[in-house]
Amino acid sequence: MFQKILKKRANLKLSLVFVIIPFLIILIFIFKSFDQNSENIENKNQELENNLITVKDFLFNQFNSGAIKIEFKARNGDSIQKILYDQKISPVEVSNVLGALRREYNIGALKKDQKVYLIVKKEKNGNFVSRLTVNVDNITSIHVFLNKDNVYETKRVTKILTKKNHLIETTIDRGVYRTAKQSGIENSIVAQFAKLYGFEVDFQRDLKKNDKIKIFYEKYLDDDGVSQRTGNILYSEITNVEKNIILYRYEYPNGSIAYFTPDGKSIEKSLMRTPINGAKLSSRYGFRIHPILGYNQIHQGTDFAAPIGTPVMASGAGTVKYAGWKGGYGKFISIHHSPIYQTNYAHLQDYAKGIRRGVKVQQGQVIGYLGSTGSSTGPHLHYEVIVNGKKVNSQTLKLPSSNPLEGNNKNFFEMQKRNIDNLILEASKKK
Ligand SMILES: [Zn+2]
Repeated sequence: MFQKILKKRANLKLSLVFVIIPFLIILIFIFKSFDQNSENIENKNQELENNLITVKDFLFNQFNSGAIKIEFKARNGDSIQKILYDQKISPVEVSNVLGALRREYNIGALKKDQKVYLIVKKEKNGNFVSRLTVNVDNITSIHVFLNKDNVYETKRVTKILTKKNHLIETTIDRGVYRTAKQSGIENSIVAQFAKLYGFEVDFQRDLKKNDKIKIFYEKYLDDDGVSQRTGNILYSEITNVEKNIILYRYEYPNGSIAYFTPDGKSIEKSLMRTPINGAKLSSRYGFRIHPILGYNQIHQGTDFAAPIGTPVMASGAGTVKYAGWKGGYGKFISIHHSPIYQTNYAHLQDYAKGIRRGVKVQQGQVIGYLGSTGSSTGPHLHYEVIVNGKKVNSQTLKLPSSNPLEGNNKNFFEMQKRNIDNLILEASKKK
């Protein structure tokens, strides 16, 4: 028994000599060469480097014998303090590190999946932190590190983002949203796109297989070429058998933004036909068997099916006249847009923050969230449009368009349009 253990120990010693030690030597060489590489780059781009220490760079620079690199992905309830104590860092050292961190970052509980990187040096008199990095978001990180005088210093590093315009042309296969996702179009752009056409096009009903969409939009890339966020749609186009709707972004001299067709007309209407993104029209206006009461009655609204919690928008600018429980309607919002137009939204799960009687809302503003409250067979939005006190079919209602561009605005628009056309040409050449 003892002999066996002794034998095992001997084996361990042998493997130390022949495997682990050469491996360590190779490792040291690899990191030395990394160090040299990053030094060369540093000399070249001294100025840039000052603002642009990436996590990777400093990890290689700091990583040498006696130090261990640890990467954490926070779980609920984790804190930096806990992470440091788990690494057997002394209370004095922990308070020094946190004190330094506090100069740039309000430390509380970490968010789920938030990343923390640590380099811990293990020495005879205990473990101490050689470097701590906390990722605040995709592009910002806070670094705490020991400077030459052995004092903790703090640095906030924000990745420099460069704007790059991006052109996507795609043919609809199975639904706009699925196609957009497959083409790599970001959710924020899909939402913008849906909002632009929400007045004129019902994505579920009007867009079918083989219809085409084209979107030209701004993307912000970090220094690794990875897209970190999206900007504005500059141009978009929908083509189906019936129509081709092109929209250009226009910035007014006062900075406000609107979209116009190539001849300077707006497709914006006083009300949107579909006050929800990504919903399926599940029940039209008209006669039907009532799903709960059973008898034949007129359905004086339009139902849109979507998952619970899907944001519901104000279909036009106006004032909230009612936001509360209303019998079979469940949680209910009513908006007055003008003396003529009113819209109602029923079966909501909840109201958006600040939505109550008397509050002014903008077109497209989120007012609540789709639900199944009141007399409802499943998650859907029951949407009603009232014209001069009478409920009408929102999907066939003819609504007046906003005013077309005139005078100087028409001239400025022509200039911006040409500029966008040139950018698209450039982007499609590079493709
Ligand atoms: Zn309904």
